[in-house]
Formats: sequence, C-alpha cells, structure tokens
Amino acid sequence: MTQASPQRAAGKATDLLTLDDVRAAAARIDEMTGLLNRSTFIAELNQAGQRGAGGVLLVIDADDFKGINDTHGHLTGDRALAAIADVIRDVFCGGGLAGRIGGEEFGVFLEAATLSKGEALAERLRRGVERIELHTERNGLARLSVSIGIAFVEEAADFSSLMATADEQLYVAKRRGRNQVSVPEMQSGTVQLRTAS
Ligand code: GH3
Ligand code: MG
Ligand code: MG
Repeated sequence: MTQASPQRAAGKATDLLTLDDVRAAAARIDEMTGLLNRSTFIAELNQAGQRGAGGVLLVIDADDFKGINDTHGHLTGDRALAAIADVIRDVFCGGGLAGRIGGEEFGVFLEAATLSKGEALAERLRRGVERIELHTERNGLARLSVSIGIAFVEEAADFSSLMATADEQLYVAKRRGRNQVSVPEMQSGTVQLRTAS
C-alpha cells in the first residue's frame, strides 16, 4: 500500500468536511423535520431584519395537534410534523428561511417578498397540508390542517415586533375556526392588522 504524501494529505483535508463542520451544521437543524431549529431561525431572522429589505413572516401552527396525538398516537404526531415540514420545503423550494420554532409551530421568512406573494404561498401551504394523508395503524387516516399568521414589512424592521404581529394574526386565524390564513395590511408605513374574510 502506498502512503499519501503529506502535501496530498493536507490538500485533501482542506476539501473534506471536518467533524467540527458536521457538528456545526447539525447544531443549526431541527432533527425531526430537517428545518432550521428555533435559535438558528431567530438569529437568521434578525440578520435579515438588519439587511433592511423587509419581507413576509409566516407563523404556522398545526391545528388541534393534541387531538392528533390523542387519536393516532405520538409517533403519528411526529410523522405529521415531518410531513408538514415536507410541504413547507415543497412550497418554498429553499427560497426562504424555514424553521421549527416550537413543538408544532413553524416559521418561514421570505426576505424582500411582497405581501401578496407571501399570502399566495401561505395559501398554497395551507392547501398542501390539507391534502396530506397519513395512514396509521391505530385509527385509519390522520388528516391535518394548519393556521397561518402573517406579518409584512417593507424596510428594516424590529423582527421581534414582526414576530409578535404574526403571532397575533395566528391567534385571529385560530379564533376564526382554524385551517386559514390571517393577513396584515400595510398602511402609512406601519403594519396594520386585517383578517382574511
Ligand atoms: P391549536 O389548534 O389551538 O393549536 O390546538 P393544539 O392542540 O395544536 O395546541 P396545544 O398547544 O393545546 O397542543 C399542542 C400539542 O402539540 C401538544 C403537544 O403534545 C404536541 N406536540 C408538541 N411537540 C410535539 C412533537 O414533537 N411531537 C408530537 N407528536 N407532538 C407534539
Ligand atoms: Mg397547534
Ligand atoms: Mg402551538
């Protein structure tokens, strides 16, 4: 067996991922869904906010998820979260930040997107989740839905207030019956709240 020269070995080492690289990448990811984890999502959202191009934030919460677990079991609940994440990936095609920001709650940020684009994608996501069919051993088919709150900003933003606005809209969508998108309206440079009818 021939020995690699030190130069070749060194050259090769620069092309390879080190264990530290792999660990650093893994530390950014939510294991169950493959999306960004909460802390990474929020850090990246804050960076995007400082860039000043604005955008649309979606806060997405699985509806009646306690009921999904109770009816179909916790493992099906876990599969449901992975299935919702797959729809998020399909709809946004890597074109935004997407993370799991809580147990059954997700965030997507579309930097520099218009409100109408964000709203259209949110609606596609809502319909995509509605179409998921999870076959379960215990109680047949599990059907899912999500409620989505939107916040929109045109310029640099305090992203914690953007998050608060999206959360408020999420609450509106829940209150109005779930499985729907609730959107804000931009007026006079401030985020105003409006509910989709
Ligand atoms: P709502 O429509 O108001 O959002 O109702 P909900 O039942 O989804 O909300 P609630 O906050 O009452 O319950 C959330 C449930 O989500 C309870 C919790 O056990 C479940 N959950 C959170 N994280 C996970 C997870 O990683 N796996 C599973 N299987 N369930 C989870
Ligand atoms: Mg929920
Ligand atoms: Mg929740």
